Amino acid sequence: MSNENHPHDNARPAINHWADRVADQIIRERGDLDVYTCASGITPSGTVHIGNFREIISVDLVVRALRARGKNVRFIYSWDDYDVFRKVPLNMPNQDVLKEHLRYPITLVPDTTGRDSSYARHHEVDVESVLPEVGIHPEYLYQSERYRSNMYAEGMRISLQNRNRLKEILNRYRDEQHKMTDDDDYWPTAAFCCKCNKDTTEMVDYDGEYELTYKCTSCGHVEKADLRTSKEIKLGWRVDWPMRWQYEHTVFEPAGKDHHSQGGSFDTARLVADEVFHWPAPVSFRYDFIGIKGGAGKMSSSSGNVTTLRDVLSVYPPEIVRYLFAGTRPDTEFTISFDLDVMKTYEDYDKTERIVWGVDKAKSDNIFAKEKRIYELSQVDGMPEEMPYQLTGGFRHLCNLLQINGGDIDKVIATIGDIKPSQEKAFRTRAKCAWFWITECAPEEFRFALKDPEAADYRKVDLAPVELAAVQGICKDVLPVMDGLEDKALAEKVYEVAGNCGIETKQLFTAVYQVLIGKDQGPRLANFMRIIGRERLEKILKTYL
Ligand SMILES: [Zn+2]
Repeated sequence: MSNENHPHDNARPAINHWADRVADQIIRERGDLDVYTCASGITPSGTVHIGNFREIISVDLVVRALRARGKNVRFIYSWDDYDVFRKVPLNMPNQDVLKEHLRYPITLVPDTTGRDSSYARHHEVDVESVLPEVGIHPEYLYQSERYRSNMYAEGMRISLQNRNRLKEILNRYRDEQHKMTDDDDYWPTAAFCCKCNKDTTEMVDYDGEYELTYKCTSCGHVEKADLRTSKEIKLGWRVDWPMRWQYEHTVFEPAGKDHHSQGGSFDTARLVADEVFHWPAPVSFRYDFIGIKGGAGKMSSSSGNVTTLRDVLSVYPPEIVRYLFAGTRPDTEFTISFDLDVMKTYEDYDKTERIVWGVDKAKSDNIFAKEKRIYELSQVDGMPEEMPYQLTGGFRHLCNLLQINGGDIDKVIATIGDIKPSQEKAFRTRAKCAWFWITECAPEEFRFALKDPEAADYRKVDLAPVELAAVQGICKDVLPVMDGLEDKALAEKVYEVAGNCGIETKQLFTAVYQVLIGKDQGPRLANFMRIIGRERLEKILKTYL
């Protein structure tokens, strides 16, 4: 490799990547800590989609950057499953059952698919089962468990004791019209009625310590709850978030645009953290949305028309999924493609890989260092020991090979020959993704299936006499010599046949594609013939002799 002396290889990670810059900022601002707690979290109130995944992987990348600096890191992922069930999503069965549970905490809403212990758990399991595939292993914190086991009794007591102060803090970012007045009753707490489970409750009285009285407006029940023993009290979001920063000693947590708007929940949480919980708000950044281009109906229907990480993993291998996020600054919107641009994404990744392994030369040492860091952060489980197998002709060629072989990956591997056993696993994953893409997402004009003369439903195509003569000409004059010809010479030989038969080359191409794949167009003919191979071409074309 030409870049073996680059400082990146033997020193602490250089600041070539945004995750490294954030890691350095955390260390600079928070000093030397025994543990750096990095947090992410979401309410599992519906399908967790790829936009939500951006937060998880952003934290994972910063966690990896901190660990690369020798830091001890705790990566927590909070399931906010003590939030209220507000809306029945259309993609879950038994809508009536779900409707009956509106205003319940989502952890007490049943999973109407019957698969998991609750509605919340269903969405949690979907995520927890897929994250290890992309090398992400957070410690999951279940907020329902934590609230119901009174872990936050002190945090709630402090919030209640400071409720006037909290009211004043929350008012600071509100315009005159929306400010709470002296007459408005503000409570930082909410309660899920201990008789009917609904959050339709009003706080009535607080004794200044642990006793909080609430009244349910649905069932009329009045309860004196004790913060140390009752399960049903929780904090509202704008206070809950900073309370947990302090509780977990969080030093890093990014947030989406909605939370990072001016006067949004991050701004108020920062004030609450400073002034009530005496813990500085974590280092943070705003991550942007993700666009989706192309796709398949079948892919998103089960998840309520949103694209999930699982969907993306059906088209891209884990390291390319990571690469998409590692290669883009988090405050930049980008698009994940399921259309023809899938090929470009694969090509970009392969190019980076060739640079990192010294097959292609980077334009400068600086670019090399950047590409190498992105590539490292894209790997699921550390750098591979050898360069993964790259098929000449790349992803497009892989798609052609798969289609010619009807999706049979074993046959594809047999035809390429030079792949090492140690490289096979990654190649198979890629081939599976490619085949899924071809069959589920690729545009119709990209798809083809090679005709099989031995199949029961094989039918010859009706050709005009001049077309038939040309196809016969290719069979007799081109096939016997094709193995000894370069692509260019092979193409010229095909043109020669067209000339001899007095047919336009375009008409000849159309006839040959019709004969081979039953379509008017296909991959570049000379290359296509090469991929199919003389033997299989003969089998098909001979039926026209
Ligand atoms: Zn009630």
